[in-house]
Formats: sequence, structure tokens, C-alpha cells
Amino acid sequence: MKFIADFHIHSRYSYATSKTMDLQQLAIWGQLKGIGLMGTGDFTHPTWQKELQSMLQPAEQGLFLLQSHFQSMVDASVYDTCKGTQRFLLTAEIATVFKRNGKCYKTHSIIFSPSLEVAFKISQKLATIGNIAYDGRPVLSLDVQDLLKIVLDISPDCMLIPAHIWTPHFGLLGSKSGFDSFQECFGDMIEHIYAFEKGLSSSFAMNAQCSQLDRFAILANSDAHSVQNLGREANILDTDLSYFGITQALKNNNPQQLIAGIEFFPEMGKYYGSGHRACKVYMTPEQSKENQICSGCGKGVTIGVAHRVAQLADRTVEQAQKYIRNRYAIAPLQDIIADSLQVQTSSKKVQKLYQSMLENLGNEFFILLTAKIEDIAIHSNFKIAQSIGAMRSGNVAVTPGYDGVYGTIRFDV
Ligand SMILES: [Zn+2]
Ligand SMILES: [Zn+2]
Repeated sequence: MKFIADFHIHSRYSYATSKTMDLQQLAIWGQLKGIGLMGTGDFTHPTWQKELQSMLQPAEQGLFLLQSHFQSMVDASVYDTCKGTQRFLLTAEIATVFKRNGKCYKTHSIIFSPSLEVAFKISQKLATIGNIAYDGRPVLSLDVQDLLKIVLDISPDCMLIPAHIWTPHFGLLGSKSGFDSFQECFGDMIEHIYAFEKGLSSSFAMNAQCSQLDRFAILANSDAHSVQNLGREANILDTDLSYFGITQALKNNNPQQLIAGIEFFPEMGKYYGSGHRACKVYMTPEQSKENQICSGCGKGVTIGVAHRVAQLADRTVEQAQKYIRNRYAIAPLQDIIADSLQVQTSSKKVQKLYQSMLENLGNEFFILLTAKIEDIAIHSNFKIAQSIGAMRSGNVAVTPGYDGVYGTIRFDV
């Protein structure tokens, strides 16, 4: 079955997340966005785990859906045009902070669990290592190799997927506290790693420049902390709708099943460029290669993803071409609407038009990827239709993000 999956999201029990991140809102927004399968996020958090247990019911093997009385409340809030299959897969993100040979590493990993029992055992074990109740995404003093051993010991059907691998501070290959290769990080355990998440600030094209990554499936996920951001990156899969169907497709890294990634324009990501946010100093990779000192304050700048990819790349942009996986680059529909109306994304006008587009046309992914431009124009305005056309053909201009500041996109080029 063909569906869109977003495996990395957070509940309201994670730090700095919206209070609306509960299961019903996730199920509503999943349908409005067109996400057929969503990670639950945060399964290690005791309270969230209780909610998962009391509100979900088993669906296909290893997957869950809302219990019927919750589902009917959800269905009542979703436009008929947006209704679709909605499943959950148990996921959690764990931050590991550890030292090897005197160097400090910080990595984030997404864990897939095949069942609530396994999820429960993992949290029990991790609770003996650190505080898992404080944050939906716990921070543990634990080597990521040991985390991998722990989850595989509990169930060999678990998967550990390094998250946003290029992020300077918490990515496996990040410039500040990462490794230079997956091999260096995992050693012999590397054979148990099948996939990684590329993160918003790198593109499929950039990842294709590193031959060490060829062996892995590449996932694009939203890492959403609010419902609006669900699916800002996602994956188009064509697999059995089951835990094993999905994990097997990742293990085989099979392009017939991993149809395409849906990605941000990487320059929009908040760690794309190098620079220093406090001084508003942005640097291209070329500039930060020359000099890593902020011209504003004289301190070191944060080395961005573009620079880091160039450091670890063993293929030129040209050579990488034939290794690029199928992908679509998108911008959030609300941003496109805001741009057309020349107002903030959060404005009421944007929300109103956004909802009416969903009601008339279908879910957000359908509008962004598939809907006819003429139909979009009829149900919104000419500028929005034109912007979506420009986005689909990549005709956009992006002012790059850096050091925690998101980039900005323009469609009138
Ligand atoms: Zn993370
Ligand atoms: Zn500075």
C-alpha cells in the first residue's frame, strides 16, 4: 500500500513542544496533512506511554489506531476531502551524551518498537540509567552503541535510526559533537544500522555526496513540536502496512518500496549555513572554511550543515547526481499562503484560507504535490497557484538559515 509516513514527532511531554500535541490532535492533523502513518514519539515517557496504552488499539501487525470512540471524535473534525487511513508506529527519540577517548559526543536516535510491551521494557531499562520522566526526549549519559545494544537485547525487531545526522550539536556527523563516519560511531555494530534521518538542513542531493551513506535508507521526518509542522518532511512508502513491512523495506533499502522523500528546501533549515545568530553574521561554507571567527564579536561561529557535508563529502555535486534518491522539495502551504497575502503565517487570514483550501481541495500533501494548478487557483488565489507551480519546479529563492535561525523562501523568481 502506498502511504506517506512521518516517523519523528514529539508529544506535549517533550521540552518546548505545543500543549496541543495529544493523540487526537495528532490524528486530526495527520489527516489534514495527508500523513497515513505517524510515529507516536516519546514512548519512553511514562505519562505519554499511559496515554498510548489507554487510547490506542492494535491495528495491522505492530501498528496502532485510535480506539473507536476517540476516532469518531477525530472523524467529526476532519473534512471529508481529507479523510484517510491513519496509523501510529511506536517511536521515541533518545539523546545520548558520552565520552570516548576524552572527546564528548552528543547524538540523537529514533527508536522503533514493535509493541507496547517492548516499549515498556525499554523505558524500564532506561529509567535505571537516567531520568525518563523529565522530558519526552530523555537525555542519557550513555554511549549510543550501548543504547543500540540495550534495545536490540530487549527485542531484535527494534530499530535505531540516527536522527538529523548533520545537526551541529546533536547529529551523529555534526560539526560540534559528532563523528566523521557511522563506522567510527558504531564499529562492528554498524550492521544493525539500516537507516538514518537526514534532517531539515541537508538535502537528499547533499547526502548523495557521501558514499559512506549509500548503504543506508534515508528518512525525511518533520521532528514536529507542533501540529502545524507535522509532515514538513516525510516519506512516500509503498510497503505492507505493518511494522515488519516497513522495517523490512528500510533494511532492504529498496527504492521500489521507499518511493521518495518529501523534503524542505535545505537552505530553509536552521543549521544550513554557518554563522553566529546573536551577531546576525551569516557565512557561506566557502567563507567558514576560510575563517571560523564571527566578524561581530570575535567568537567562534557555528559550522553549518553545508560546510560539514562539504568536509565529509567524497563526491562532487556533479558525481553525486546519479546517487540522489527520488525526492520532492516542498514548502509549508501556510507559508505559501502567507507570502501571497503578505502577512505573517500565524495570521487569522492565513488560517482561514488554509482551512478552506483543505476543505475544497484535499489534504496538504495532495495540494502541494498533486492537485492541478488550475484547481488550486480556483480555490485560493492566482499567486498561491503560481507559487506552488514554482515550488514544484524548484523555482524559488531561499535566504539561508544558520545557527538556529530558519531560512526564508520567496516564490516570485
Ligand atoms: Zn533530536
Ligand atoms: Zn558573534
